[in-house]
Amino acid sequence: MIRGVSTCPYCGDLSAGVDDDRPSLVLAPDRAGGRPCPHLAFLCVSLTAYDPDTHDKVPGRTGHWLWTPGDGTRALPTGPIDPLSMYVDEVMCGMLAGESLPAGEHRVGGATAGFRDADRPGSGEFPLARQGGHEVAAYLDGHGLYARNPDALVAEIRRLAGVG
Ligand SMILES: [Zn+2]
Repeated sequence: MIRGVSTCPYCGDLSAGVDDDRPSLVLAPDRAGGRPCPHLAFLCVSLTAYDPDTHDKVPGRTGHWLWTPGDGTRALPTGPIDPLSMYVDEVMCGMLAGESLPAGEHRVGGATAGFRDADRPGSGEFPLARQGGHEVAAYLDGHGLYARNPDALVAEIRRLAGVG
């Protein structure tokens, strides 16, 4: 099943969904060609699968992705967090203020699992298809970062994250 991740605050396009069966990130699922709208600068998405009885993670059904216009989709490792996705995550979750924030005009789409469930119960945390007779559930955190000039925002954020 494809679950919507983030909608553009400028034009209302759905930027991406997560296919929770594979799992994989599907860009612009409503558009032919799968090309997101021109405002998208970053997508940072995590689908975290777990066994609801033991709360053990289910790595094969879990995925973390970072998308940028230049690099496309990168699957992120579960271990150490890459500095770019960490910084983007902090911007998206409103954890930064003042000079730590990018100066370029930008808007945030998407939400963490908790906000998704508050908005629409079952959209943030949900059961997946069973695996080998075991129940599997997952939660979905995913944000998009948007700008009228996404290339400039991407360049500024790379600089602020220290990845040039
Ligand atoms: Zn847009």
